[in-house]
Amino acid sequence: MKVLIVGANGQIGKQTVEKMVNDDVFTPTAMVRKEEQVKAFQDMGAETVLQDLEGQVEDIAAAAKGKDAVVFAAGSGGHTGADKTMMIDMDGAIKSMEAAERAGVKRFVIVSAIGVYDRNKWMSKAPYYSAAKHYADEWLMRSGLDYTVIRPGGLKNDRGNGQIKVAKEVERGEIPREDVAETILASLKDEGTIGKDFDMISGTDDIADALKRL
Ligand code: NAP
Repeated sequence: MKVLIVGANGQIGKQTVEKMVNDDVFTPTAMVRKEEQVKAFQDMGAETVLQDLEGQVEDIAAAAKGKDAVVFAAGSGGHTGADKTMMIDMDGAIKSMEAAERAGVKRFVIVSAIGVYDRNKWMSKAPYYSAAKHYADEWLMRSGLDYTVIRPGGLKNDRGNGQIKVAKEVERGEIPREDVAETILASLKDEGTIGKDFDMISGTDDIADALKRL
């Protein structure tokens, strides 16, 4: 499966690309925005494409052309203001969806954030962040794409243990980025996750089993 990873230089993105390189099912292409980011992925054995999410949809579509799936794992990060959150987490995500449609790529997996589907759960200190994620997810779910929306809880850099809890709605909690990356690969392998959106925190179920029960 040929996969374009948008936000590949990010912490989840990089682990996703690395896991795909080491999994016979996948041929990943890392979408990065700076020339100096390319070498690390070439060293890993992954293809790369240089493209900024603030660029044109047709250029993102060119990057997606010929792929079987797009994974969106980008985000503007906590150090930026509401403007960049809107332009990357929302508009960048939607541009990636439009690009997938233009390129004829049906499968799309997005990394969102826990609870954003419910306005009552939006982050009180940064409601614009929750709104950006909410509307990107909504756009995807209303598109004709074969979507999976993964909404992880607080991200940690601990090693993953492959044990998760997923459901439409789960209590707030945390999860290692490695387990999110594993869940992206597992979702792409399991067609039963098409049309599913779910919260995710660390738990007691193996990833593949947890996804089957959704
Ligand atoms: P991260 O390390 O901040 O990575 C985000 C990536 O997005 C970076 O590689 C960045 O590129 C890329 N990006 C930003 N602007 C871009 C642009 N204009 N064009 C192309 N790429 C761009 O994120 P993470 O920790 O892996 O998290 C992934 C996602 O999970 C994010 O959407 C985040 O909001 C979400 N999330 C976070 C939490 C949490 O607890 N922090 C919880 C749930 C969900 P550069 O490397 O070039 O800067």
